[in-house]
Amino acid sequence: SRLLGLVGVLATSLHSALADEPTAQTYKYESDITRLRSLVIHSLYSHKDVFLRELLSNANDALEKLRLTALTDREVMKSGEANVTIEVRLDEGGKTGQIVVRDTGIGMTKDELARNLGTIARSGTNEFLKKAEEGGGADGNLIGQFGLGFYSCFLVAPTVRVSSLPPTTSANPNPEQHTFVSTSSGDSFDIYLDPRGNTLGRGTEIVLEISEEEAEWLSVSRLKGLIDKHSQFATTFPMYIMERK
Ligand code: ADP
Ligand code: MG
Repeated sequence: SRLLGLVGVLATSLHSALADEPTAQTYKYESDITRLRSLVIHSLYSHKDVFLRELLSNANDALEKLRLTALTDREVMKSGEANVTIEVRLDEGGKTGQIVVRDTGIGMTKDELARNLGTIARSGTNEFLKKAEEGGGADGNLIGQFGLGFYSCFLVAPTVRVSSLPPTTSANPNPEQHTFVSTSSGDSFDIYLDPRGNTLGRGTEIVLEISEEEAEWLSVSRLKGLIDKHSQFATTFPMYIMERK
């Protein structure tokens, strides 16, 4: 499998060179994160719907953080985007389609993408792993309790892309949009400067390439049902659900 991995890397670089794609920097997941990711993926197969709850709760947190930052830094709301909203969109793309969750919140710099999504074993991770392994698996509650939610998107998507643009602040006057890409297997992820530019205005867009087996989630009514089920995360900021086909 190491050999296969190497072939994969070569194929990817060749592909990038041919397609004139931006140069990506490859990062290795911290070993605890690798363990955690595979535990989440393998033990939550009967709670797959948590992925939307987790993404919405992160979007909500990001908007709260933006609001707090804006209280002390007047530059923040002057940049690109006036809205503070969450959008859930069904879109074309990939084999079957995509679910896109977009917020206009605090966003992440390149370093924050790497740190928050891949390189820091968060406090609680070890305790979580211990409990989950003792209990023979992790259920939705355990995940929620320890806030290890982002990885749950790999339950339905073999490939996940997170594009993010932080607000203009005094400390970061010229923010740039970066994209994080990871597959559900493997122990690394890529981050590159988004070749589209700062298209988000501000905030984060998470694109889930839904697998064929999980195509059932590509339905507005299904997603609405999930949002109602976990409505505690849907109320603070205006939220839109739409289909672009
Ligand atoms: P938690 O929310 O408990 O911290 P998660 O795995 O859900 O754990 O998310 C990990 C981290 O990634 C968050 O703490 C946050 O820093 C960052 N993050 C995730 N989603 C977003 C988002 N939509 N906007 C900004 N930061 C995000
Ligand atoms: Mg979270």
